[in-house]
Amino acid sequence: MPEFTTPPLPYDYASLEPTIDTLTMQIHHDKHHATYVTNLNAALKEFPAITEQSIEVILINLDTLPVPDATRMAIRNNGGGHANHTMFWEIMTPGGSNVPTGALAETINATFGDFESLKKAINEAGTKRFGSGWSWLVADNMGALSVVSTPNQDSPLSIGKTPLLGVDVWEHAYYLKYQNKRADYLAAWWAVVNWDKVAERFAAVKG
Ligand code: MN
Repeated sequence: MPEFTTPPLPYDYASLEPTIDTLTMQIHHDKHHATYVTNLNAALKEFPAITEQSIEVILINLDTLPVPDATRMAIRNNGGGHANHTMFWEIMTPGGSNVPTGALAETINATFGDFESLKKAINEAGTKRFGSGWSWLVADNMGALSVVSTPNQDSPLSIGKTPLLGVDVWEHAYYLKYQNKRADYLAAWWAVVNWDKVAERFAAVKG
């Protein structure tokens, strides 16, 4: 049966300095993400047919997977953790556009007013998230945008939305450098978003 694997970080651990420090990147990718993958594979050990599907398809169909509830919860947490982090590394690549461009920029302006208003909405959702979770820019299957927050490692895919951009607000994502100051981390984080990658995800939704 195929096993899920942790994709290599697509750039150096130090590439997001000074916004995200090297040690945080090492622990976050090599330990946290890798542990979600290990636990996902363990949860699916008795259900090899499910591993034939992509993690995205598994999460879209989470509620109807033919598995016991304990396994469904393990997939929700660890499969979500795997998918969420895979996207997180991809949209933070160094380089690329630092602001939205093209059709995505037009849709952001039409939906939120302007880019600053979108950032404010995502930062607010991330700041208000009690405990651990994510703040997201998502699209529905018509390409309409919205900002949502999810607890823990819940994926927007499981509520019918496609994540275009997400910021991890678990303490493990920021605590070494920002300690308790989640709002400071959120304010700084925008400097490392690669909007070319977000635009690719939007284009894939629009077909
Ligand atoms: Mn994380």
